[in-house]
Amino acid sequence: MTGIVDSWQRQINYLRISVTDRCNFNCIYCTDGLAPSAINSDNLCYEEIARVVGVAADMGITKVRLTGGEPLLRPDLSRLVGMLAQVKGIDDISLTTNGMLLSRYATELKRAGLKRVNVSLDTLQAERFGRITGHDRLKEVLDGIEAARRIGLNPVKINMVVLKGINDDEVIDFARLTIAQGWHVRFIEYMPVGVRGEGDDSVVVSAAQIFESISVLGTLEPDEGEDGNGPARYYRFTGAEGTIGFISAMTEHFCRTCNRLRLTADGQLRPCLLDDDEVDIKTVLRNGGGLKELEGLIRRAVAIKQEQHHLAEGIGPGKRSMRQIGG
Ligand code: SAM
Ligand code: SF4
Repeated sequence: MTGIVDSWQRQINYLRISVTDRCNFNCIYCTDGLAPSAINSDNLCYEEIARVVGVAADMGITKVRLTGGEPLLRPDLSRLVGMLAQVKGIDDISLTTNGMLLSRYATELKRAGLKRVNVSLDTLQAERFGRITGHDRLKEVLDGIEAARRIGLNPVKINMVVLKGINDDEVIDFARLTIAQGWHVRFIEYMPVGVRGEGDDSVVVSAAQIFESISVLGTLEPDEGEDGNGPARYYRFTGAEGTIGFISAMTEHFCRTCNRLRLTADGQLRPCLLDDDEVDIKTVLRNGGGLKELEGLIRRAVAIKQEQHHLAEGIGPGKRSMRQIGG
């Protein structure tokens, strides 16, 4: 096992990096009252991100994921991928995207060293897609998924946030695609997180409910998956090529196996998605901080990682929207 050990004996070996707060979609569950003025423009540059990753890799981080906002809005993202691919110790670079620009960039990202991609897709219905994301772009996203699969950014995982009364009637359609098309689908419980701090959990559909709904298609067998300490529990229909994952932050938190740290676009180390505590690394980076200082900040961020989040009890982060944290 590699990684920095936190106060709860968890190995932290995974860094999620938000490269921008900006987004070309406006998903109803994500932006949560975020005003355009709240978007931070003073983001870390690629050299600064690579410096943090270099220090973190020396401490045991082996995997990084680029997210946002929409990471593909950041100009020349493949340059950053190429820089991170050169960092000794980093053996897995992945991307979470809404897929809108993926068919344009998939080839160059793969060439630069990107291994795999997760694409967010909450509906297969064009009109509904427009209502959820604010943009009529389902075709582009489906093209992006196909492009990523074709060039081997595998496994391409599809992230579906399931919302009661909005898209929960499509869980069977998504599950069927794991059999018919070999898609890897992950059902995500909606997390009431946001800058207004008033989470509405009435639209949450539990992983157990989704499991029951899709079981009409066949027997779901546990599947270990390749993620190790990831938040999802994986299953597979007998004989299906694709897998089904459940990310159940609300009804069955996965904190016990948490292996991650986050870096926000504006240069804050964030120990937990669902806790507002952050450690400022940008100031030290920009003041010429040395290796020891940067290591110290990473250690501090790991040290203040809470044992678990308390979203289900209504205690969650209120300072940033999902789009600012990176999901
Ligand atoms: N724009 C990219 C995308 O949509 O994939 C990356 C950023 S997005 C914040 C990362 C992930 O967070 C997406 O899979 C999205 O569905 C998920 N997400 C955003 N808001 C959420 C919420 N309130 N509850 C659960 N998942 C959420
Ligand atoms: Fe943008 Fe992704 Fe949030 Fe949708 S989920 S608004 S695509 S950051």
